[in-house]
Amino acid sequence: MSDCIFCRIVAGEIPSQKVFEDEDLLAFKDIRPLAPVHVLVIPKKHIATLFDVSDADAPLLGRIMRKVPQIAAEQGADEGFRTIVNTGRMGGQEVYHLHVHIIGGAALPAMIKY
Ligand code: 5GP
Ligand code: ZN
Repeated sequence: MSDCIFCRIVAGEIPSQKVFEDEDLLAFKDIRPLAPVHVLVIPKKHIATLFDVSDADAPLLGRIMRKVPQIAAEQGADEGFRTIVNTGRMGGQEVYHLHVHIIGGAALPAMIKY
């Protein structure tokens, strides 16, 4: 069993509210939403942080970013949203499985404390 929470969500060992899934990607609602729309989009493959992305992963990251606005719009953030990728200790990353936050559904201040 993986000790990575998001790998365990991918494996179905931890329940999540999925909003999108295909063979490479999973998107699910954040357990502690900061806004009406707060979704995490992850590669199913374990990549710890942006620092760990290889050239071979570039198409995967491209697919994630292509999917982000589609998921945002489907979830109701069709007038705009914020994406955040916290990276590493100094970036405030808590879960070491790469994820893109989609935050929206309400007007967001220019900067939010995250
Ligand atoms: P980070 O600070 O690493 O960018 O964000 C991790 C996010 O994962 C946090 O917003 C946190 O609420 C969310 N999270 C942590 N554990 C779980 C979980 O078990 N399920 C879900 N859906 N979200 C989680
Ligand atoms: Zn993982």
